[in-house]
Amino acid sequence: MTRVSTETTSIPVSSKTELIDEITTYTCLRNCMGNEGTAGSCCSIGDRDYIIGPVHDAAQVLERLSALRGREVPHDEVFIDYEEGSALFPERTFWQKKECFPAIRVNTEDETMPCIFLADDNLCSIHAIRSETCSNYSCDHLKSIFKAL
Ligand code: SF4
Repeated sequence: MTRVSTETTSIPVSSKTELIDEITTYTCLRNCMGNEGTAGSCCSIGDRDYIIGPVHDAAQVLERLSALRGREVPHDEVFIDYEEGSALFPERTFWQKKECFPAIRVNTEDETMPCIFLADDNLCSIHAIRSETCSNYSCDHLKSIFKAL
């Protein structure tokens, strides 16, 4: 006969929001888009036909960034508009679409072409004040995980 324990064990359980945050952090830093050992792909464009835009709340982002830095941060320091972007990447279709702008500026000196706010630890250096484009984004890999929760 099997004895069933009547003792209860208290296991801390994360709320769904906490769980989503934990999964996102783990995935973005260690298993980006389901590729083990990679990080921050959605914050870099590399050689893909990919753009981080459009940013509809660009003015609000600049306001928050200016307050944080204690100086007026100009639009061009943070964003790329159609004229510049379409000339920068003439072979990439998203960069030829006006509706994809303004886009977040990427560092073209770096081979991975990361967003200028992506820090060396692959975390967003302006996480708390990032744009809606960034805060609302989930890659297909994350979406498939969240669907199962
Ligand atoms: S602002 Fe932050 S979240 Fe958005 S692309 Fe850049 S590093 Fe990524």
